[in-house]
Amino acid sequence: MDRLDFSHERDLTIDKLVSRVEAYFPDVDLAVLKKAYGFAEKAHQGQKRSSGEDYIIHPLNVASTLIKLQMDLDCIIAGLLHDVVEDCEITPETIEKEFSGDIAMIVVGLTKISKIEFKTREESQAENFRKMVVAMAADIRVIIVKLADRMHNMRTLQYMSDEKQKQIAQETLDIYVPLASRLGINSVKAELEDLYLRFLKPEVYYRLAEKVAMNRKARNSYIEEVIDILKFKLMEFSVKAEVKGRPKHFYSIYKKMMSRGVDFEQIQDVLAFRVIVDNITECYKVLGVMHSSFTPIPGRFKDYIAIPKVNNYQSLHTAVIGPKAERIEVQIRTMEMDLVAETGVAAHWKYKEGGKSINKLDWVQELLEFNKALKNNSEFMDVVKNDLDIGGVFVFTPKGDVHELRYGSTPLDFAYAVHTEVGNHCVGAKINGKMVSLKYRLKSGDSVDILTSKTQAPSKDWLNIVKTTRAKAKIKQWLLKVERSRFKEVGEDIVDKLLKKFATNIGALRKNGMVDKCLSHFKVDTLDDFYVHVGSGKFTTGQIVSAIPYLEEKRHEVDDIDIKPFAEKLSKSNQKRLKSNNAIIVDGMSDVVVRMGKCCNPIPGDAILGYITRGRGITVHTAECTRVDHAEFGRNVHVEWNADLNTKHPVNIKIITHDKPGVLSLISQLINGLKINIRSAVARSLPDRKGSFLFEIEVHDYTELLKAISAIESLKEVISVSRA
Ligand code: MN
Repeated sequence: MDRLDFSHERDLTIDKLVSRVEAYFPDVDLAVLKKAYGFAEKAHQGQKRSSGEDYIIHPLNVASTLIKLQMDLDCIIAGLLHDVVEDCEITPETIEKEFSGDIAMIVVGLTKISKIEFKTREESQAENFRKMVVAMAADIRVIIVKLADRMHNMRTLQYMSDEKQKQIAQETLDIYVPLASRLGINSVKAELEDLYLRFLKPEVYYRLAEKVAMNRKARNSYIEEVIDILKFKLMEFSVKAEVKGRPKHFYSIYKKMMSRGVDFEQIQDVLAFRVIVDNITECYKVLGVMHSSFTPIPGRFKDYIAIPKVNNYQSLHTAVIGPKAERIEVQIRTMEMDLVAETGVAAHWKYKEGGKSINKLDWVQELLEFNKALKNNSEFMDVVKNDLDIGGVFVFTPKGDVHELRYGSTPLDFAYAVHTEVGNHCVGAKINGKMVSLKYRLKSGDSVDILTSKTQAPSKDWLNIVKTTRAKAKIKQWLLKVERSRFKEVGEDIVDKLLKKFATNIGALRKNGMVDKCLSHFKVDTLDDFYVHVGSGKFTTGQIVSAIPYLEEKRHEVDDIDIKPFAEKLSKSNQKRLKSNNAIIVDGMSDVVVRMGKCCNPIPGDAILGYITRGRGITVHTAECTRVDHAEFGRNVHVEWNADLNTKHPVNIKIITHDKPGVLSLISQLINGLKINIRSAVARSLPDRKGSFLFEIEVHDYTELLKAISAIESLKEVISVSRA
């Protein structure tokens, strides 16, 4: 209802355009717009569209779309002139002379893009995308005009040959839809998607259209009725709001059908209502009214105001059982957010005065940098596709929320898409109820249940597993944080030991202002930062002594100021990692006795640490084991699982069941069936006709343990399973 109408206008004239521009851009120099029209009309004189219409109708419609998106005058003029260089042998220099350098640049950018031939093979597509990105980086308006151009071409696609229709429609879905989506121009995205459907899947399109048309009358009166009720409710709470309602666009219904594997008949006519208010406070107030007046559907509330989407989309989403006892979706946003939702990046031009505005986006800049950094085409394509979400898969949370991830994504990507913490602690996943490894490739329609463990932490290997930029960034962030805290610890240790040699300590130095002096000498803000740099070896002990006069004076009294941290000494003593038969690799140490902590029974997949015991080598505990004193610096040592070795480890699991005869043998058979060895089993009766079993089993790693746990959980006699 309020969606921008991008229909082809066959009777469009420059006068109509001029009055539309005037309506929202009153101070603009309209003479130049008319001049551009005259220029384009003359250039295209005699040329015809496939429809038989004069060619000029095309640039007019393109310019009209740009006006609907409320783009600036340069952009609208570029829309009028967009085909003159390509089709009319007019040079960019002429455009620059007659109009402006900016306009010429946009037209040149468009001409370049039109020369890109999109191929299906990934390798050549990469080259095309490079050019697209370069064109965009020059000025983002190039892509906006290109989208308007493509939309009008799609609008008039019926005049092309069948083959051409299919090719252009596919290209639109593959390339222009993701671009529109990434730029947040949702009105254009929705339009392009529906047009794709119309030309590439006409049987689907026309059935949907028919279905929607059949119910139109009933639906419209239903919409009106619901709007009235919503308005009335809001009035009761004295909220001033505009309420609109509309059916979802065809492609989104189609997508839902595909991802849920349902047929036309089962598609519910889901209606989305939109409430538009003055400010953010009112948004949350409306949400309150909705949730207190109607029953909210759990798990459906999303706050994109607090956390906007990457394309800057902001809105509150919720779903409730509406006044007519039917599910309705409600979007709540301010007027400005609504404009951004419909026109995305184009909205920037409306809010900038004087026409000059952000013509480049950080995102494009980033891509451009990748373009320089990545020599390899497929690597570049990876990054681009990633960002554009091309060829995505649609997967579900256990609650039924849809996430769109790029093709090839793994449960780990999904976990990071849900929440950073979920990603950081992800140990595995159940897909449609079945255990899979972290490397599993998600398929559209998968229902993904992420399993987490407090002891889990990201490792470098994860960077090879994940596909999305978000997950990669989050993992790198975590690794850096860990490294920083290690450096800090080491640095603090070095400084402590150094000061001890001078018979002083950090507290004393702080009192007489030496610490501040030292920090400003090294140009660092905090003591922690200082420790980090000392720990990383950037500042040496010699430099520290020179920087602090008190120490410098006494330097001759101390014979050796070179201090190596404990951990470094260890790794210096033997840089080579040993290919040992131990399940554990101890940082740089050979011939060391390693034991597993009996208290926590670590297994591969657990985050672990080594603890140096007096006279008994190193004991390995899980990172969260309460028996280890983590604070006791100097006695912890970095240990890792030996990935080359695939040995079995004992682990205890505790199972609570309904007390029924034969449960023990049922569970035992199940575990044996998984080819997992049972070392021992202890059974105990609990009150309330429940039973408790403690199994000691042998597994290779965490994934295998989870497999066992989930298999046991699936028995109907079982109440709970946990690691003990
Ligand atoms: Mn064109």
